[in-house]
Amino acid sequence: MREYTKFYIDGAWVDPVAPKPLDVINPATEDVAGVISLGSEADVDKAVRAARKAFATFSQTSREERIDILERIIAEYQKRFEDMAKAITEEMGAPAWLAQRAQAAMGIGHVQTAVAVLKDYKFEEDRGTTRIVKEPIGVCAFITPWNWPVNQIACKVGPALATGCTMVLKPSEIAPFSGYIWTEILHAAGVPAGVFNLVNGDGPTVGAALSSHPEVDMVSFTGSTRAGIEVAKNAAPTVKRVHQELGGKSPNIILEDADFQRAVTGGVASVMMNSGQSCNAPTRMLVPGQRMDEVIAIAKAAAESHTVGDPNGNHKMGPVVSETQWNKIQGLIQKGIDEGATLVTGGVGRPEGLDKGYYVKPTVFANVTNDMTIAKEEIFGPVVSILGYDNVEQAIEVGNDTEYGLAAYVSGGDQAEVRKVAAKLRAGQVNLNGASTDLMAPFGGYKMSGNGREWGDHAFGEFLETKAILGYSAKVAAE
Ligand code: NAD
Repeated sequence: MREYTKFYIDGAWVDPVAPKPLDVINPATEDVAGVISLGSEADVDKAVRAARKAFATFSQTSREERIDILERIIAEYQKRFEDMAKAITEEMGAPAWLAQRAQAAMGIGHVQTAVAVLKDYKFEEDRGTTRIVKEPIGVCAFITPWNWPVNQIACKVGPALATGCTMVLKPSEIAPFSGYIWTEILHAAGVPAGVFNLVNGDGPTVGAALSSHPEVDMVSFTGSTRAGIEVAKNAAPTVKRVHQELGGKSPNIILEDADFQRAVTGGVASVMMNSGQSCNAPTRMLVPGQRMDEVIAIAKAAAESHTVGDPNGNHKMGPVVSETQWNKIQGLIQKGIDEGATLVTGGVGRPEGLDKGYYVKPTVFANVTNDMTIAKEEIFGPVVSILGYDNVEQAIEVGNDTEYGLAAYVSGGDQAEVRKVAAKLRAGQVNLNGASTDLMAPFGGYKMSGNGREWGDHAFGEFLETKAILGYSAKVAAE
């Protein structure tokens, strides 16, 4: 039982102004795994003021000093790596192998890329007599979700520290353990007081207070499109910079000459990973219509190979994060059946033998049309929708026919053709032939999937203001 009821403000663990405990549920057992405190506006105000005070000094640190801090964080993170992975499994149900190899690993990975970028990032450049300087934007507020909890924290905090910003983090109240351990790591690494602050809480109170606080210069939000819109509205009166990483409904176009065994199996696996709780999951698989039967056979076998069970056991999939999400997913699976999609495998109800825990059957629908609810709405569960297309132009049109634009996937035997399709897809990241994750590649969305980009050097831009100093190299007029 974890007791994580304190906040971290100005370099110290402090009690909330008005303690309000919240139980954190382990989704694999439905038992209480720990308790946190929900914060208030007063806690946010304390944390923002600490960050503001620290900004005066931290914004003036040298590149070398900031590299040193980031390297100390990496060293401390390495010591706590196992704790981090265990916390993620407990708070959101990721299987131990995934928590270690991907979830916890990406947390450290983003700090490592921040160091690599910082080593030769150009904060200044001269154009004629003008000098252009990139300066830290100021105090940042970070609001993060539960699905890849430490990945989403690290990809904001790493570049923000690298650029000399100070910050307040509010992790998801549903999966707050990893954020607490992250904070312990930063404390142990000796991040100066006030530079990084943690306030737990819910969206409507702490999230809203952070998004509207006049002393916050930018908000970086990852989560649902619904909450992202609220954040932007709350930030508008004080004209903050708002960065949003929101939902997705990503198309996965499999061309006629693709290796179907590989592309279909890989596509299904990418959705099932993390029980379908990834914003960039390739949830709409587009295949040549005349080959639907062949695809169904491969997809069925692939989905059924995804064993579901105790995340500490030897399974590919754990539960989904909460009862709320479980109910939402069940409702959408039922909608798929009601609207006439072909249920290939899975379906409503719990997997056999799993009566406790928020487990969902790996589910595949075929003969889906793009007007069906399961093709339009982000399900955030282990559900693949297979749609048939007549020709490539139509596949691209259907692929782009979504309010989202986070990611897209293309597989095919002819690289030139695959690239042509990629060029026509309206998405922030296009993955060709199952390419692996690249932490240096910009990550973010077109359309209602968000604004701005995270990861690698592109992330730095989100935390920097641009100052042009005219006449910087000009001779003084009187000379
Ligand atoms: P959510 O929007 O409910 O919560 C995300 C965070 O926002 C939490 O910390 C929550 O407390 C806070 N929040 C909620 N309402 C708020 C408000 N009115 N004002 C300020 N903060 C508020 O999302 P979730 O359920 O935790 O995460 C799932 C969603 O996140 C999915 O839609 C998924 O696609 C999206 N997501 C996107 C990305 C990306 O990079 N694009 C990555 C991960 C998750």
